[in-house]
Amino acid sequence: MIMVEKEYVKRLFSLPHQVLASKAIDVLEKSIGSRVCLRGIIEISNICIKNCSYCGIRRDRKDIQRYLIPKEVVLSLSKRLFQSGYHSVVLQAGDRRDDYFIEYINELIFEIKRFSGGQMRIVLSLGEQDRDVYKLWRDSGADRYLLRIETSNPSLYSFLHPEEGLSGFEKRCACLLALRELGYQVGTGVMIGLPGQDVDCLVEDVIFFKHIGAHMLGMGPYIPTEGTPLHQYIDDYDKEQVIDWSLKMIAICRIVLKDVNIASTTALDTLKPGLRLEGFNYGANVLMPDFTPKEWIKDYEIYDGKPESTADYCLDALGPRIAWNNPGDPKSYIKPKLCNRGSTLKCAS
Ligand code: SAH
Repeated sequence: MIMVEKEYVKRLFSLPHQVLASKAIDVLEKSIGSRVCLRGIIEISNICIKNCSYCGIRRDRKDIQRYLIPKEVVLSLSKRLFQSGYHSVVLQAGDRRDDYFIEYINELIFEIKRFSGGQMRIVLSLGEQDRDVYKLWRDSGADRYLLRIETSNPSLYSFLHPEEGLSGFEKRCACLLALRELGYQVGTGVMIGLPGQDVDCLVEDVIFFKHIGAHMLGMGPYIPTEGTPLHQYIDDYDKEQVIDWSLKMIAICRIVLKDVNIASTTALDTLKPGLRLEGFNYGANVLMPDFTPKEWIKDYEIYDGKPESTADYCLDALGPRIAWNNPGDPKSYIKPKLCNRGSTLKCAS
């Protein structure tokens, strides 16, 4: 079965762009419709205990100012987002596991749910945590969690995270499974164009997303970043190849996974201006404009050339496709949840 899937996915990679894009749009329209869901992202902190070899906010990076945005600022920003039609907020940060941070997040979840009468969806992107912490935040009202697997190839994963050894990959998978089990809407994804990655790795990534039961995907090109260990492989970086694969991955994931939510990510625009908008022609249906205040956004350079704001041109161009005032729950999540409620309740059509 898996062999058949692999062959099928690999064959999709060999199709021309136009064919893939139109197949993907066809699947999108038939499975969830062409509306684009919005999530406002706030990069609440760049403090990080991890040392990922590709990341511009890794622990060993000493040349950046570390910050945690005060809770009140995050709250008033979230309120403004809600009032202006964003019914999902993403709180993203470097990994931190101390009690102060856990409680800071917990209070934010409570307050955001309170002021929005439970309507605002809270999406966390806060890395690897203990199951108890995921549970605490879920019980307090968090709805979704984004945790990229980065690559589904265990040896490439350990090459990218040398301090963690082979168990690092298992831990990441265990986190994703715990999140699913706790009832989160789970998002994952990979970076595209990593040193040593080839089409076979990407094919495995697509199969991984399917097997883990992801509800949401956020994939983006890997951007070589100065001051990180992985930057030494820059000579092998083939920008045109990365552009090609990044767009193809969006289309292939749409074709294979059908009704999941797929973001067109900011890093696409770093690779080539306009590419983020192009993602919506390949089957993406989620846009995540960045609302981190100016004062802090300059210190959240997870990769070189991360633009401060590029979403406006996408909002303008997508116009009537944008679903304002809509939480945009992934259909792939709503469906099984309703089905599981027992035989007396029928699935919503
Ligand atoms: N600490 C959180 C959030 C990390 S930043 C976590 O681990 O989930 C969010 C994402 O930025 C990462 O998952 C990674 O895929 C991406 N990222 C980091 N460095 C990058 C780079 N050099 N190029 C492209 N994307 C990068």
